[in-house]
Amino acid sequence: MLSIGLTGGIGSGKSRVADLLAQWGAALIDTDVIAHALTGPQGEAMPALREAFGVQAVTAEGALNRAWMRERVFRDPDAKARLEGILHPLISRHAREQGERARGAYRVYVVPLLVESGRWRDKVDRICVVDCDPETQISRVRERSGLTPDGIRAIMAAQSTREARLQVADDVILNDGATSAALLHERTRMMHDRWIALAAALGTTRGRQASA
Ligand code: ADP
Repeated sequence: MLSIGLTGGIGSGKSRVADLLAQWGAALIDTDVIAHALTGPQGEAMPALREAFGVQAVTAEGALNRAWMRERVFRDPDAKARLEGILHPLISRHAREQGERARGAYRVYVVPLLVESGRWRDKVDRICVVDCDPETQISRVRERSGLTPDGIRAIMAAQSTREARLQVADDVILNDGATSAALLHERTRMMHDRWIALAAALGTTRGRQASA
């Protein structure tokens, strides 16, 4: 099955794009959802996180104390590496298992930090970037979350730049400040139609290879 890695900076609109693709029949595998489940109450990653970071990292409900951890990894690159060392292999395994079970026209792995992590590039057939200018990212996230512009800029500074994302992109969906919701819908539909055609072509080639 054709696999797409969908990425983009915070507020770029990748959740919107992913929702549309799912409505049209793509199988979504969302690594943020997986990460939340792993670090929720009694989540699979919690024993290792408690071991690595102590009881302060765990809420009374047995979930990850996100505010504490965010603060910690911001100040301490070693802590960030330890956190990722625990979470990333688990996320990869669950994403792979979900991908194997997935039924749909093609698979879409939603990976916010795809460009940053390096683990994903050879696991997908194509990388699609939802592209947006930084000013629009800030205003969208501000409306959605109530974070301050400085807080949002700090998150963006820890992510890849727009240019670095575009450099690894096979496909780009532009969703900048001049893109209305209707235009995003149209651009996403064009991409979907292209992937459907590609999935059909790939199905034929892979089928031929398998029977050769
Ligand atoms: P991401 O998942 O990349 O962080 P979202 O898809 O959640 O981004 O989009 C961020 C916010 O901006 C959401 O509230 C979303 O509804 C809104 N948004 C995204 N694209 C558009 C657009 N083209 N027009 C209007 N609002 C948009």
